[in-house]
Amino acid sequence: MALLTKAPRGTHDILPSEIHKYQFLEDEFLSLAESFGFKEIRIPVFEHTELFHRSVGETTDVVQKEMYTFNDLSGRSITLRPEGTAGVARAYVEHGLFNEPAPQKFVYKVSCYRYEKPQAGRLREFHQFGVETFGASDSSAEAEIVALADAFFELLGIEDIHLEINSIGCPECRKVYLEKLRAYFKEHIDSLCDTCKDRLERNPMRILDCKSPVCKEISKGVPIMLDSLCGDCKEHFESFKADLDALGVEYKVNPMIVRGLDYYTRSVFEFVSDKIGTQGTVCGGGRYDGLIEEIGGPATPACGFGMGVERLVLLLESIGFDFPEPSPCALYIASTDKEAARVASQIAFDVRLSGLGAEYDITGRSLKAQMKYANKINADFTLVLGNDEIMSGVGRLKDMKTGESVEVRLDEVAEAIVDIYSNRIVEQFGELSGSFPDDGGDSPTFTIIEGGKKK
Ligand code: ATP
Ligand code: MG
Repeated sequence: MALLTKAPRGTHDILPSEIHKYQFLEDEFLSLAESFGFKEIRIPVFEHTELFHRSVGETTDVVQKEMYTFNDLSGRSITLRPEGTAGVARAYVEHGLFNEPAPQKFVYKVSCYRYEKPQAGRLREFHQFGVETFGASDSSAEAEIVALADAFFELLGIEDIHLEINSIGCPECRKVYLEKLRAYFKEHIDSLCDTCKDRLERNPMRILDCKSPVCKEISKGVPIMLDSLCGDCKEHFESFKADLDALGVEYKVNPMIVRGLDYYTRSVFEFVSDKIGTQGTVCGGGRYDGLIEEIGGPATPACGFGMGVERLVLLLESIGFDFPEPSPCALYIASTDKEAARVASQIAFDVRLSGLGAEYDITGRSLKAQMKYANKINADFTLVLGNDEIMSGVGRLKDMKTGESVEVRLDEVAEAIVDIYSNRIVEQFGELSGSFPDDGGDSPTFTIIEGGKKK
């Protein structure tokens, strides 16, 4: 029975009382990304398992132990997406988007699924905002996405976050480096955790990403990738740093940043905050030039990032961020009986169609209880409908904040409320009036009229 009323471990409901936080962040992120030229893409929650094996990589923690994989009823192996990049890359190849002018830039918001040990900032179903840029090999592509994430944090007023960057080279120079790493870790093999013992042969770079304190300590003396970069990768990294300097984005080079997924090449980066405990990485990404070809597309340079939405919310809550509250109900129409409630329903629909929130009684409760409810939902205005109002076609619109009321015709309630709101905006901000030139001139003329008076 308990299973029926308890969400699976590592998942969370986002209740109506919290949803505005997510809606606000989604809107802000999407519109900022769109101003950077990214176009929204929506991809399936599940893909063929092979896609993640190929793209995320066989040796990664994600593929080895974190994926939700099952056979569907036709016996096909299906996996719930553990991240967004693989699906976007698959869509790019499947729909031949490489034939469109480069670069192709995508933005998305997705739920992700990973079988991990749930803790603060680590869930089994979580959400990511992400961007991907396909078809740009220059370091300015990754600098642009870093600048986007940086601008987003700045827009939210987040100061407690810093950017760490690194280069993990290309497959050629990395091969040489991996040998050096293996040699180093072999000397410490007995002290490594069991997972890292396993990583030593398959992918020793992943040991640098290990969260165990002992492995972390051993990693302190490790040779670093930056010393093994080939000429081209070195040049790319220098160029990346110069691009960030030009954009005014501050960063710290951290040779220990390697990222958890296999497909990364050259630039990698993380935005880390120490305000939210050990799961401090809010956003991570980098370049992954080999991925599109790996999954069957033409060789295509690419880069992207994923941002953990729950971690972002935790961070914002920790700094006391004031999430904008959703707009309250404009009008609550109380009614004395069923017939009045029917008229109320018609007026409410009229108000709703004019773009404002309106509610009326659908429970059949007393007038007193209805007014209590109107207070509870924070309605801006109320209107009480009874026999008198219906007979005369006129009622009183009551401002719940000031207690003042004005007479209103029942067939003009929507217009009356819209008028009141418009007047308030004019009182607060002044009116914008003006005209576009019809004489071929190149700039329109506008005059600000403050408080309804010409300035
Ligand atoms: P970590 O090192 O914390 O496990 P990761 O390297 O596995 O992170 P990515 O695959 O790069 O993470 O995902 C990008 C972002 O998604 C992370 O920086 C983080 O903010 C978020 N994220 C990843 N896994 C989880 C999770 N299990 N729960 C909540 N957010 C997550
Ligand atoms: Mg992880």
